[in-house]
Amino acid sequence: MTAAEEHILPLVRPEMLALTPYSSARSEAKGGAGPSPRVWLDANENPETPSVGAPLHNRYPEPQPADLVARLAQLYRVAPGNLLVTRGSDEGIDLLLRAFCRAGRDAILITPPTYGMYRVAAAIQDARVDTAPLDARKGFALDAAAVLKAVTPATKIVFLCSPNNPTGALLDRGAVLRLAQKLLGRAVVVVDEAYIEFASGRGTAGGRSLATELRRHPNLIVLRTLSKAYGLAGVRCGATVADPAVIAVLRKIIAPYPIPGPVLEAALAALSPGGLAAAKRSVAALVAGRKQLAAALRKLPAVRRVWPSDANFLLLAVDDAARVMAAARARGVVLRDRSRDVPDTVRITAGAPAENAAVLEVFRSLP
Ligand code: PMP
Repeated sequence: MTAAEEHILPLVRPEMLALTPYSSARSEAKGGAGPSPRVWLDANENPETPSVGAPLHNRYPEPQPADLVARLAQLYRVAPGNLLVTRGSDEGIDLLLRAFCRAGRDAILITPPTYGMYRVAAAIQDARVDTAPLDARKGFALDAAAVLKAVTPATKIVFLCSPNNPTGALLDRGAVLRLAQKLLGRAVVVVDEAYIEFASGRGTAGGRSLATELRRHPNLIVLRTLSKAYGLAGVRCGATVADPAVIAVLRKIIAPYPIPGPVLEAALAALSPGGLAAAKRSVAALVAGRKQLAAALRKLPAVRRVWPSDANFLLLAVDDAARVMAAARARGVVLRDRSRDVPDTVRITAGAPAENAAVLEVFRSLP
């Protein structure tokens, strides 16, 4: 028995362990005796795509396209068996809720202020949401003692976000790993690294992904995405990185053909050597722009505070967030009011240079 089988599978909903998943035509076609297949009449597909008069997207895709899995695994420095490709990392959040939380009985733990989908996915699954707020006085650092205090026997998943949305702060690497160790056998620790490519990697927090720590921490699960650094939010391609035992459970729950052909093409192009180099340049430019924007904003009287950021956005404290939002909107600029999470704050995505300039115009126009 592996460590994950011993410590993680008992946390999975028994119904999901017992579930016989849908067996897709494409999975069943794999293997088998005889010559390589020539005539595909197993999946009730159309022999062509009538709109183009030829086969284009007439076939169901591979459930987990092997070349995409291999490239993402290489990118994240894990084995292919550690990775599930999903429709954005949002789908990973949803799958995890459904895998681990029994409706009306189990709970997740989140560390507000943080990304809103953990709460939504929990509500959909009827899982309770417990909280252990980040420490605002320490730059929204992880309060591991508060997390451990808030964990109950019902807690199945602890969601951490690093760099965190909306604060922009990386969580301390050592603190996350120690927490995972302490929770082994009690809960899984999901680290959402949607913005990790923008992190500087300096300081104690360290901008390196935690994905490579899976071997030492079987209850660690890492979420990655092509939506941010790779500029493919419209493609919907993310990855859940976890122990193979966890991946096997999630594979039972995910829809039969979650990765459409056009998504595969776009993702593979982004992961080609040229695509990877372009993403690196983009991240460097966005980070440089974010730094300039932060420095310029800090000089303006309408801005009370700009938190340090390791992501592609800034969190700002202002006197009156509603007024800032209205002034921006009047100039055709859409920002995000985060006052519900942190009083009188707006979150600003680092955009193209002209977009950042438009943001500065808005703030310069304010008294
Ligand atoms: N995690 C965090 C922290 C996010 O901010 C977002 C997007 N706003 C996501 C996950 C989901 O991203 P996607 O589904 O596009 O991968």
